[in-house]
Amino acid sequence: MDYDVVIVGGGPAGLTAAIYASRARLKTLLIEKAFPGGQLMMCAHVENYPGYIGGPGMELSEAMRQQAERFGAESKIAEINKVDLLGKEKILYTTEDEKISAKAIILCLGAKPKRLDVPGEQEFLGKGVSYCAVCDGALFKDKVLAVVGGGDTAVEDAVFLTRYASKVHLIHRRDRLRAQRIIQERAFANPSIEIHWNTVVKHIRGTGSVDHLVTENVVTGEQSELPVDGVFILIGNEPNTKMLKGQIALDEAGYVITDENMQTNVPGVFAAGDVRRKALRQIVTACADGAIAATAAEKYIESLS
Ligand code: NAP
Repeated sequence: MDYDVVIVGGGPAGLTAAIYASRARLKTLLIEKAFPGGQLMMCAHVENYPGYIGGPGMELSEAMRQQAERFGAESKIAEINKVDLLGKEKILYTTEDEKISAKAIILCLGAKPKRLDVPGEQEFLGKGVSYCAVCDGALFKDKVLAVVGGGDTAVEDAVFLTRYASKVHLIHRRDRLRAQRIIQERAFANPSIEIHWNTVVKHIRGTGSVDHLVTENVVTGEQSELPVDGVFILIGNEPNTKMLKGQIALDEAGYVITDENMQTNVPGVFAAGDVRRKALRQIVTACADGAIAATAAEKYIESLS
């Protein structure tokens, strides 16, 4: 077999699993389709990861990557599009038709942004529609923006976007935000943010690029036109588990079901981080999952000999 452990996905869960597995002297490969960091790369400012007083997500993920490399984890940029996990030998296939085998696999596939599924969303992607404030915020200097969502990401990023935009409309479908209190307080205190309660987006419209949204108040049914130069859709995530269907037990929303040792229903296959069914999706819990998964994988590999 090529490796003891192959970790698929290089966000905080995968990077921590790589640190623990390589430090346990397992022959470890970390596969990431673009660059390591996962959703952490999109975090403008991290302030709730213990020991990291505050700074960009990119900086924290780079430190994790260097730490994993220091202990000897190999890394590879490739996209896995097919897996064969049910046998003793776990096999992964890349989009380039390369076959990689391992005794144990740790799935750290993370999650991707959910779509609103409204007319104009696809048409104006990259022309005013974005799913990443850190990536695209600076393009909207002195412009008017909308952010859709009421969770930590939407509210935190609405505040972040006021660094660039002259005004941010926060559009939320309910009369109460889901975001943590401390994050809500910052939005309420920010004079550049206007919150539109009980409001949904029905259309994203423009000529060439976004110039307005058609919104609807879900209580009164009243529709309005809201002039904006861009809209950030930050309404949560869905797990990247399509290729696992039929091999690994998933819950109804597609998240991987594990036990407390990050073990899936298939021996030798573990899952960690946001891809897993869990109560709290944070950097610190992703890292904890990664550490547990690597330790459990080590025990599993020992049990094979
Ligand atoms: P989330 O917590 O799932 O929140 C999604 C938000 O979008 C909710 O307010 C939801 O409304 C709204 N929404 C969902 N589908 C919608 C739709 N079709 N139309 C309109 N609105 C819709 O997602 P998230 O904010 O991306 O956070 C993901 C995870 O990362 C969470 O566990 C979060 O705690 C964590 N996170 C933490 C931090 C931090 O600690 N600083 C920062 C970012 C993210 P309802 O409220 O009505 O359901």
